[in-house]
Amino acid sequence: MTDAAQQTAIERQKPQTFPAKAFAAQSKTSTMAPFTVQRRSPRPEDVQIQILYCGICHSDLHQVRNEWEGVMPTVYPCVPGHEIVGRVVKTGSAVKKYKEGDVVAVRCMVDSDRTCANCRAGEEEFCESMPTFTYNGPDKFLGGVTYGGYSESIVVDEEFVLRVSDKTNLAGTAPLVCAGITTYSPLRHWKAGKGQKVGIVGLGGLGHMGVKFAKAFGANVVLFTTSPNKTADALRLGADEVVISKNPDEFKKHANTFNFILDTVSAEHDLSIYLSLLKMDGTMTLVGAPNKPAPVSAFSLIFGRRSLAGSAIGGIRQTQEMLDFCADKGITADIEMIKIQEVDKAYERLLKNDVKYRFVIDMASLK
Ligand code: NAP
Ligand code: ZN
Repeated sequence: MTDAAQQTAIERQKPQTFPAKAFAAQSKTSTMAPFTVQRRSPRPEDVQIQILYCGICHSDLHQVRNEWEGVMPTVYPCVPGHEIVGRVVKTGSAVKKYKEGDVVAVRCMVDSDRTCANCRAGEEEFCESMPTFTYNGPDKFLGGVTYGGYSESIVVDEEFVLRVSDKTNLAGTAPLVCAGITTYSPLRHWKAGKGQKVGIVGLGGLGHMGVKFAKAFGANVVLFTTSPNKTADALRLGADEVVISKNPDEFKKHANTFNFILDTVSAEHDLSIYLSLLKMDGTMTLVGAPNKPAPVSAFSLIFGRRSLAGSAIGGIRQTQEMLDFCADKGITADIEMIKIQEVDKAYERLLKNDVKYRFVIDMASLK
């Protein structure tokens, strides 16, 4: 089918829509400003959600400024936001799991092909045809791209919606569906726990959740930070030790001692210095996604048969497991609540490593 024919086919099947207030970037240099998006009216399997809170992930900033141009170029206008907590206001006729009034969450994916081997294994974050991202992904129903959670509402297939306990702090729960699961999943996969020495690199949104989870799983946790003023917080959040990474002397005593290191850093930095801290057969996993490739010395992997790996978010099943684990253990993110009009200021503070430890937008401010 030609592009034009495909577009016509989409047009023909276009469901009814309704307008929703949002905040968008119009270009990589513009500030965030009011914008109206069209949401599809719920299909039989859809849930319509009134968004109460949306966390600000550093990925929002990378995407808004088109820093991942080579991998995921940004289509403007761009409405970011994939740490969504809200209330169900409408359900389609075939929805089984949710009813009006339920508190739910939506993370960074709203669909996948559901048929590939990875989807069938419950790992739809690795969908072989790429999951549909909550924003800046091709919109299968309306054409164009998807719009994220910096908005008053969103409509999502129930299979991609998560249940949230209404007994938890809802604003502090929003970051769990990205910062939380992105650290929970690799820590579980590489079996961080009792008797293991685990390093977390960077104390931002992801890093502070990584510290909380590694501690909750029973590991001995060392936090690496470029910000000496975060030391007391890191210890309070659960780190057993803090290393100021600007001071290479502090690294020496940790050489060859770590079972696992989780790197959450959002900007260019040296990986080899961390690899040298791994024990034999240890693994360092990247979840931080700087725009530029990082050089790695082969010798830092060869000696000690070390592994360098990556991890993306987590599957829907594991995300629900993580939310239930957090509700049970009383774990939420440490947040700074902001109004939606303050998003640009929040982005500037992210770039200065000045977030304690996740900004969350109170959507009531979107008038
Ligand atoms: P964030 O809140 O801004 O935290 C990043 C932290 O990295 C900073 O607070 C800082 O911690 C450290 N850092 C920043 N620049 C650095 C530099 N040049 N050298 C060393 N350390 C530096 O960001 P976030 O929301 O946690 O996201 C972190 C990264 O993960 C982003 O790239 C984001 O896109 C990515 N991400 C990936 C996934 C995935 O599925 N893999 C999911 C979500 C986000 P200190 O002050 O402690 O040094
Ligand atoms: Zn995110």
